[in-house]
Amino acid sequence: MTTSSTCTICKQKPTVYKRQYSGERLCSKCFCLSIENKVRTTIAKHEMLRFDEKIAIGVSGGKDSMTLLHILNKLEKPFPKAKLVAITIDEGIEGYRNEAVRIAEKGCSKIEVAHVVVSFKESFGHSMDEVVQNLKAKDMDDKGLTPCAYCGVLRRRTLNSAARHVKATRLAVAHNLDDEIQTFLLNIFHGDLLRLARIEPASSSPLSSFVPRIKPLCSVLEREITLYAFLKKIDFQTTPCPYSHRALRNDIRAMLNRMEEKHPGLKYTTYRSGEKVRASVRDTMKTSEMRNCSICGEPSAADLCQTCKILRIFDSEKHSTQQA
Ligand code: SF4
Ligand code: ZN
Repeated sequence: MTTSSTCTICKQKPTVYKRQYSGERLCSKCFCLSIENKVRTTIAKHEMLRFDEKIAIGVSGGKDSMTLLHILNKLEKPFPKAKLVAITIDEGIEGYRNEAVRIAEKGCSKIEVAHVVVSFKESFGHSMDEVVQNLKAKDMDDKGLTPCAYCGVLRRRTLNSAARHVKATRLAVAHNLDDEIQTFLLNIFHGDLLRLARIEPASSSPLSSFVPRIKPLCSVLEREITLYAFLKKIDFQTTPCPYSHRALRNDIRAMLNRMEEKHPGLKYTTYRSGEKVRASVRDTMKTSEMRNCSICGEPSAADLCQTCKILRIFDSEKHSTQQA
């Protein structure tokens, strides 16, 4: 007999989660299976993977990336030719990143996935702490870009070159549905339609320097990822980055969470709106082809990549020698 505390799917086990936007009540097992099925469907829908990929996974040690590592490891098990390698970027943030690197290391060794750590310091000569100090010294810390804007550019670059270095055929990043709609709204707020057109669940380029990037968690809500990690006993870092509070993204996140609370399903409708807007922007606007940066040779939307523009601020001589 089904009661209000019994799982809607298996009709046997007790409910641990009520999915507000669909009305389903799910037991632990059915909930976890539903998340894995969502990821499987997303991978198939966007043709993210073949059976023999070498997948580099960006693993920061947070809940999203540790969950992605766990799910991809499970989904790729039936494909003996597929390989996983985890890449952790150490931005050099005192009191924050060391713990995350340890958690990522432990999580990878538990499931026997190779793990590579690459630091900003060794890649660019500057840790993130030094970048922030430098911005302060130049009196640029509360004007213009936030630390996350610099960090995001440097991390995307480091992940791509590390993935290329390990000869990965795909780079999987753990952006969830909340991240995707926050990015959509951020681009709307900034009026950056070209960037909006480029947010794809799977992106590729004819350039061999660009490792095709996939987002297998893009249709899963952040809170459901947290619950999945909790139910599967996946260890992850909970300490927030000391620089995160300044990002506009946090205000958008809080606003969307409040609205989802009052209007369940709103995040999904925003996500679908984003897909439609992206498709029409792509059809009507001339988007620029990717090319190799004239200084470092890495993939870029303009002659000079964002990383070289940033490094120019901090170190005009060193960056010119950073060929991949
Ligand atoms: Fe970098 Fe911002 Fe993330 Fe901190 S919160 S690791 S500064 S992107
Ligand atoms: Zn460059």
